[in-house]
Amino acid sequence: MTVPVFRFAPSPNGHLHLGHAYSALLNQQMAGETGGRLLLRMEDIDRERCTPELEATMQEDLRWLGFNWETPVRRQSEHFEVYRVSLDKLIHMDLVYPAFLSRNDIKHAVQKATAENRVWPHDPDGAALYPLSDRTLSPSERAKRMNAGRAFSWRLNMDRAMEHVSQTLFWNETGNTIQARPLDWGDVIIARKDMPTSYHLSVVIDDALQGITHVVRGKDLFHATSIHRLLQHILGLEPPIYHHHALILDQDGQKLSKSRKDTALRSLRLEGMTPQQIRERVGL
Ligand code: GLU
Repeated sequence: MTVPVFRFAPSPNGHLHLGHAYSALLNQQMAGETGGRLLLRMEDIDRERCTPELEATMQEDLRWLGFNWETPVRRQSEHFEVYRVSLDKLIHMDLVYPAFLSRNDIKHAVQKATAENRVWPHDPDGAALYPLSDRTLSPSERAKRMNAGRAFSWRLNMDRAMEHVSQTLFWNETGNTIQARPLDWGDVIIARKDMPTSYHLSVVIDDALQGITHVVRGKDLFHATSIHRLLQHILGLEPPIYHHHALILDQDGQKLSKSRKDTALRSLRLEGMTPQQIRERVGL
């Protein structure tokens, strides 16, 4: 029988809060119940916002909490060349294209459409879908812009990707079968400006490379799993089983954020809270 492999995969761009504590400890509990392994991955591709200091603090908070992971920690920033191989594959398959529009350009496109009474589609997170104009740029215009050093990201041509797949995709959500709906996301970013990857690309590659069998993470990533399932299919990666757990909310029913001080593990610890009290607070 294969040994289950779980992972907790924070981004070290701030301090861990109660929601992270719940996710980490739930992974640990499920690994314990199934005789599984438990890994820690730092999703630190954003080299501006993620720092070694924040990572060190995260590890310290996790240790204090009683989260015990296997070493070594996988740091995504150390594996850009691995993601590059998959990006090149997608470029070669002609499933991605260089996308030049800035956030402001997108905003203007949406405003223009709204002024003309056209409804602009939004993704499951509420963000406007990327305009289709860059899909159809001529090869010479693309080359001209790239040679001129214009900043661009690589985006998936979602329609072409779906044609390539030509079958309905499903994922396994702890006992349920969920139909993936990647079209709802439009042309998602596969590689951000100046880096050969994005969250979506690195997460599917790492889950496969680390042999993750169970992805246990917050419900806020439930819909993103549609994109992950699609990328796994295109790149020939074995999909794990998913469990998207409830989020820990504040008194006003809002999602916690890393910028809030009062729910940061650091602050709670300084106030004298014990790891056991944290467990109780998150219901574990
Ligand atoms: N790095 C992501 C985050 O901190 C989690 C990714 C995942 O669990 O798939 O929100």
